[in-house]
Parts: sequence; structure tokens; C-alpha cells
Amino acid sequence: TRFLLTGGSGFLAAHVLDVLLERGHSVVTTVRSVQKAEAIKEAHPTFGKDRLDFAIVEDIAQPDAFDQAVISNPPFAAVIHTASPFHFNATDMKKDFLDPGNRSSTTRGEFWDSERVLTEYYLAIIGTTGILKAIQKNAPSVERVVITSSFLAMVDRSKNFGKIYSEADWNPITEAEAYDGQASGYRASKTFAERAAWDFVKQENPKFTLSVCNPPLVLGPIVHYLNSLSALNTSNQRIRDLMTGAAKVSCPPTMNYFFVDVRDIALAHVLVAEKSEAGGKRFFVVSGRFSNKEIAEIIGDAFPELKEKLPSGEALKPGDYPEEGTYDFDNSRSKSVLGLTYRSLRETIVDTVKSLQAVEAR
Ligand code: NDP
Repeated sequence: TRFLLTGGSGFLAAHVLDVLLERGHSVVTTVRSVQKAEAIKEAHPTFGKDRLDFAIVEDIAQPDAFDQAVISNPPFAAVIHTASPFHFNATDMKKDFLDPGNRSSTTRGEFWDSERVLTEYYLAIIGTTGILKAIQKNAPSVERVVITSSFLAMVDRSKNFGKIYSEADWNPITEAEAYDGQASGYRASKTFAERAAWDFVKQENPKFTLSVCNPPLVLGPIVHYLNSLSALNTSNQRIRDLMTGAAKVSCPPTMNYFFVDVRDIALAHVLVAEKSEAGGKRFFVVSGRFSNKEIAEIIGDAFPELKEKLPSGEALKPGDYPEEGTYDFDNSRSKSVLGLTYRSLRETIVDTVKSLQAVEAR
């Protein structure tokens, strides 16, 4: 099958690319620069242009960003859209994730209904609806679109111990709350972007079916050819900080207590694209619960030479589970529909540390 994969230089997308190639698919991946395309090409020397090719999309938040990228010969049958701004370094929430502009006369109803308001003001949403519009307009051969959303589009921060999360759950965050801080801006952007995608399908009834993957924190090995320890993807930074001693004085708080291995969520994206019964569904792809304290303990156990860099005793406490317990998860759909099996936290952490050590050694 011929796939368009967005953001091929990203932490997750790099693994999706490898799964697609391993399973015999042909892939065009979008990247922001020729240099990134070259780095990916060099790392996959056995694949010719017919199996691995590139399209430059510099900024997915431009409404017409994907109009050309979705056109291909032979034409695409499926699209996996993972690219999205993900970092907590935003200084200007409105510019980076949600751009409200002059919305003084906008009611909530108009916000969801009005294409004009969506297109003008919501960068993260544009990044999602923009590609759906481009496919509808220019790529009628596409049968399945898979979008990477997030557990953050499901979690209700007022519900903790006893709550079991599944595909039925939606984050109730409001626009006003989106501006509370950087983390809430990111949560809101993922929630609103996923809602906008489902709304698009409902309103436009396109030829393709939409599916969504909702991963919690994604941990796991990084591809060596695109990374340095200083510019590491956001979700693995806690492992780096534990390994390097940066978190020795105090283990960082865990925040959301679910993780998935990047290799498992990458495979899930491809299975969701391949299986007809996965159409029209969300998939909560979660390996298990974790705490930063457990990560520190696994690193200490598996890599004794790193022990002195790790927090211990009292310094581990901030990284522990809360005393009252945490919420739980139901990942049964990913097992029954996709047949997915999950790696353990130990396997994930050990392989991540090894990959970070390899990058450090370079
Ligand atoms: P990365 O930051 O590693 O990758 C993001 C990708 O999107 C990169 O290829 C990046 O390009 C590209 N990108 C970002 N902004 C733009 C833009 N404005 N125009 C064009 N390309 C852009 O993140 P992850 O791989 O971790 O995340 C992938 C997806 O998974 C995202 O949708 C994220 O929200 C979601 N997700 C991630 C989780 C995690 O813990 N990692 C958890 C839940 C969801 P470049 O490399 O050139 O900057």
C-alpha cells in the first residue's frame, strides 16, 4: 500500500516509517527541510525512490500546507498524520498552539461550526483539518486516514483514583482553560484538534474513513540519525535527566501515570491503517502504568554504573504514585481489534537508556 506519513523526522514518526517499510509498504514522508530528508534517506540506503520518498512541508499550520503533498503517482491509499507541535517551551500560548486572534464575537457554537474561525485562529486544528481537506480535495484514492491524538484528549483532570479510562472518554477542557499555562495549552490543542477531525468527517462525509490513536506518554528508543541528547524529544527527557544526574536531588513528578512504548504505538498506527475493522474508531494504546520513581529504580537495577547519578531515598518521593492511588485504563480494544501486545516498562526503559547512551557516545 502507498502511504503518506507526515512529520517523518519526529520521534514517533521515525518508528512508524520503519514499521511501514518492514511491512512492505511504500512511503512518502513529509519533512520540513531537505537536510532532514537526506538524513532519513541515508539511514535507509536499501530503499529506492519507489519505496521511500519525501515531500517538503515546512509548516503544517498553513491552511494549504498539504495541498500538493497529498498528490502522488501512484496515488496514496492511506495517510498517517503524526506531525503536531509538541513541546513545553511555548512562550506565547496563543501563537504556538491556539491562535485566537479577534474572537470577541465568537460563541462556542460558532467556534465548532465556523470553518472560517477554525482556519483563521487555531493552528493546531489547522494542522489536522488542513490535511483532511487536502485529501478530500486532491487525493480521492485515500481510503484510510490515521491521526495521532493523545491520552490528553481523554483525561479529565478532576477524575483520579477509581476512574478507568477508555476510548469513550473526552477531556472536558474549555477554551478559557487552554490559556492557563503551557501544559493546558498543549492539552487543549490535542483535544480540539481531535474533535475537529471527527467533526470534519461528520460534516463532510469524505470518501476516506478516519481512525485515531490516543497514546499516553510515549517512551522508547530514539533513532540515532536525527537526535542529540540536548535536543531530545519531549517525552524521553525525564529518562535523560535521570541518567545524567540532572534529577538526582529530586525525582520529577510523574504527571500522567500511563506510558506506551514507541515501537508498540508505531505498530498500532500501521495496524489501524491496514485493518478495515479499525475504521471510524479511536484506539487508546497504552502499555501500562508507571511512575518516575519506578523508572529510576529500573535504571539503577539494569545499569549499576548509573546508580550514583540517580535520586534515592527521600529524593525519589516526588516521582512516586500519589498515596490515594491513580486512575486506571482499559486497552482491550487495541488487543481485540488490532491484536496488539505490549512491551513491559522494564524493556522500554532499558532499550531507551541504551539508545540514549549510543547517541551520547557519538
Ligand atoms: P516530535 O516533536 O518528535 O515530532 C513532531 C513532528 O512534527 C516532527 O517531525 C516535527 O518536525 C513536526 N512538526 C511540528 N510542528 C510542525 C509544523 N508547524 N510544521 C511541520 N511539521 C511540524 O513529537 P512526537 O513524535 O513525540 O509526537 C508525534 C505525535 O504524537 C504528535 O502528534 C504528538 O502530539 C503525539 N503524542 C506524543 C506523545 C509523546 O509522549 N511523545 C504523547 C501523546 C501524543 P521537526 O522535527 O522538523 O520539528
